[in-house]
Amino acid sequence: MTEAQTFKLNGVALALDGAQMLDQICEHFIEHADVKRTGNAAVLTSSFGSANIRLQEPKLLIELDCPSERALQLTRTSIAEHMFYFAGTDPLELTWSEPVGRSVLPNLHEVTVVAAENVTPHMRRVRFSCADATAFIGGDMHVRLLIPPRGRPPVWPGYRDDGRVAWPTGEDELVVRAYTIRAVDAGRGELWIDFLQHPTPGVATPGADFARDAQAGDVVGLLGPGAGRLPEAESILMIGDESALPAIARIAAEAPAATAIRAIIEVSDADEEQPLRSAGQLDVRWLHRSRYPVGTTGTLSAQAIEAISSSSAETFVWVACEKEDVRAVRAFLKERRHDKSRIYAAWYWEKK
Ligand SMILES: Cc1cc2nc3c(=O)[nH]c(=O)nc-3n(C[C@H](O)[C@H](O)[C@H](O)COP(=O)(O)OP(=O)(O)OC[C@H]3O[C@@H](n4cnc5c(N)ncnc54)[C@H](O)[C@@H]3O)c2cc1C
Repeated sequence: MTEAQTFKLNGVALALDGAQMLDQICEHFIEHADVKRTGNAAVLTSSFGSANIRLQEPKLLIELDCPSERALQLTRTSIAEHMFYFAGTDPLELTWSEPVGRSVLPNLHEVTVVAAENVTPHMRRVRFSCADATAFIGGDMHVRLLIPPRGRPPVWPGYRDDGRVAWPTGEDELVVRAYTIRAVDAGRGELWIDFLQHPTPGVATPGADFARDAQAGDVVGLLGPGAGRLPEAESILMIGDESALPAIARIAAEAPAATAIRAIIEVSDADEEQPLRSAGQLDVRWLHRSRYPVGTTGTLSAQAIEAISSSSAETFVWVACEKEDVRAVRAFLKERRHDKSRIYAAWYWEKK
């Protein structure tokens, strides 16, 4: 029997405090990978392969072992980006046994606007044609939308020698925002993204504005898909606001028939409700912000906590909304000791 081919790469990081860096890596990646820590070493394993990181003062020795060249590049970039993030303003040197072999990110998709329409007064759907739409089927739902400056040919990110992404700067600088692939129409080679229009007086909203002004033929980049895995469970409780509505609608639409789904969705008013479809049993409750007394905060998190309290320990709890509401729900889930593998809790935006 022949062993499956794997792709390997070694790296060396010289950080100011390697031990602290290893702690931070383990703490962070526990959300995304199986992390096994033994003293000064850690092995992170996911569908992308494994990263073996060992502290040999003053260095961190990194060994990557991945099932494909693509997975290897993505893992290297992820490790590099996180290490520099954790280092903050401290010096960090990161070198790899082989130079980055390509100039274009393997998960970058250049897509073109086909059409844009309002599905509700404040939700604008943009349909994109994508040469490789099947890459977005199943699995992860999220992308980073890269919006080039209007009127200039797009310059897409490449790689730095240390494995991090090299973003275009100056006149070619891209606007980057996180969005959810609402639906994939593989037959037509199309992807849909629903953009909430959230005008804030005196504040630029480049992500929302892109959708407002989108014209057929406009070109943008999508980095992904990555993160936001479709939950697999017999019972799912979803809580979110308009920014999470595309994800909630997609999870419901793709859930198998036996799934029991409860959703609590906060929107501004009845005009922002959308019909949700599912093969599963779907129970949706809409909350209307316009009915709350002026200055009210925390309604969604309070409703979420009540719903979680009456749910079984096996329920998959999926939460996405404003940062403070997510924090409150996360704290409650921790206190309740809800199984971490049955939780997705991410803030999608922050009130500023
Ligand atoms: C993983 C992930 C997936 C997401 N998927 C979607 C999606 O599919 N559709 C979608 O519409 N959004 C989605 N979001 C949220 C979206 O990324 C943010 O709302 C983002 O801030 C929008 O960028 P912007 O340029 O329009 O506004 P920004 O420039 O980021 O913010 C400008 C101002 O608007 C305020 N603001 C930002 N978002 C909101 C909001 N939702 N409601 C009210 N005020 C807001 C900010 O506080 C700030 O004051 C997702 C976020 C994440 C992390």
